[in-house]
Amino acid sequence: MDFSEPTKVKEIRASVRAFMDKQVYPIEAKVRRDGFKASLPLLRDKRELARQTGLYTAHVPEQYGGAGLSLVEFAHMSEELGKSPLGHYLFNVQAPDVGNMELLMHHGTDEQKQKYLLPLVRGEIRSCFSMTEPEFAGSNPVWLGTIAKKDGDDYVITGHKWFTSSAEGAAFAICMAVTNPESENLYGRASMIIVPTGTPGFELVTNISVMGERGSDWASHAEVSYQGARVPLSNRLGPEGGGFVLAQERLGPGRIHHCMRWIGICERALDILCRHAATRMLAPGKPLGSKQIVQQWIAESRAEINAARLMVLHAAWKIEKEGAYAAREEISLIKFTVARTLQRVLDRAIQALGALGMTDDTPLAFWYSHERAARIYDGADEVHKTTLGRRILGRYRARTDAARAG
Ligand SMILES: Cc1cc2nc3c(=O)[nH]c(=O)nc-3n(C[C@H](O)[C@H](O)[C@H](O)COP(=O)(O)OP(=O)(O)OC[C@H]3O[C@@H](n4cnc5c(N)ncnc54)[C@H](O)[C@@H]3O)c2cc1C
Repeated sequence: MDFSEPTKVKEIRASVRAFMDKQVYPIEAKVRRDGFKASLPLLRDKRELARQTGLYTAHVPEQYGGAGLSLVEFAHMSEELGKSPLGHYLFNVQAPDVGNMELLMHHGTDEQKQKYLLPLVRGEIRSCFSMTEPEFAGSNPVWLGTIAKKDGDDYVITGHKWFTSSAEGAAFAICMAVTNPESENLYGRASMIIVPTGTPGFELVTNISVMGERGSDWASHAEVSYQGARVPLSNRLGPEGGGFVLAQERLGPGRIHHCMRWIGICERALDILCRHAATRMLAPGKPLGSKQIVQQWIAESRAEINAARLMVLHAAWKIEKEGAYAAREEISLIKFTVARTLQRVLDRAIQALGALGMTDDTPLAFWYSHERAARIYDGADEVHKTTLGRRILGRYRARTDAARAG
């Protein structure tokens, strides 16, 4: 087992770090103050500079205009970008576009790739992913109320979604809708359908207020109503009834991206904690860091972050070698482990900073509210734990059954 970082990874990390230091950290506070939408001109200028690093849309193969990084290479980059709330957006590798690009790359027709993938990769448009519904438990993804009915050469989509992140300003949504209600296979009832947001019948009802913030543009979560939105059958992504399989595929690498972003947040939070502990004086000659409890917060955070990173890189490696299906246990494991680590490290950093931790002078308070969702989206932690526990137990049952039979 070789734990050394390949030269290419070292270069990627160094290049992103240099960009973050010079171009990103200095504008963070201003963007937070002004809001995302009002900051778009500034962010567009920064995106042009990010493009010049050669790492723009880095996870996409070169044939589509990306930098062609492997999942493991991109995981390292994602950690560096995660150290600022703006990192992923500036390099055009932000959710949900990153996952939608992967879907289009693997399942899009040539026409869909031309019309939707290539402009996404170039950063000319944005997209959103529209699956969760207020009336149905999102934890049971095969239970949906949105219907896409065939009418001649079209689908007519009717339904109600929410938490369609980044819908404001998006050019299209990938909508999960039931196309085969009669299918006995519950997992074969829904399909993914591309719906341009200008389609009559696609209505962005409102940006939902989340943790006291309504958000704007990419940084928002929308309630969306589909009222007879009509799109051609050729807008279906992948096979009819294949929506669930595609959603699972999308989430595998997606969880690597999120987890490494969370590890980036942890590293920044720990750095802020340590700088403060070393310089904040409780009394003359007595820095905060002289207290054992603070030293323990630092040590525990270091251990948890290092362990989390190894787990995520291993899961990414396994997806690359054996595919997302073979790595499904590792994917569940990192989802709830890293989400927990993220919240523990952020909480310790805020506690160590005292009142300063509650201000917007550091990104800690922003992350503390925004990243609470990490334990809910991409599968609530409880669902991952239950599924993983059941799978592990299943192997014991199989052994017991085999012993009894033999
Ligand atoms: C910030 C944010 C962004 C999001 N972005 C998107 C997006 O872009 N597109 C999109 O389609 N969706 C998005 N979502 C929705 C997200 O995918 C769902 O919130 C998630 O799937 C959970 O579904 P739910 O909210 O309906 O919770 P429910 O399914 O109602 O579950 C509620 C709670 O019940 C518990 N629970 C559920 N099932 C089980 C079980 N089997 N065992 C034990 N406990 C269980 C869990 O604690 C869970 O949190 C986003 C959500 C958030 C918070």
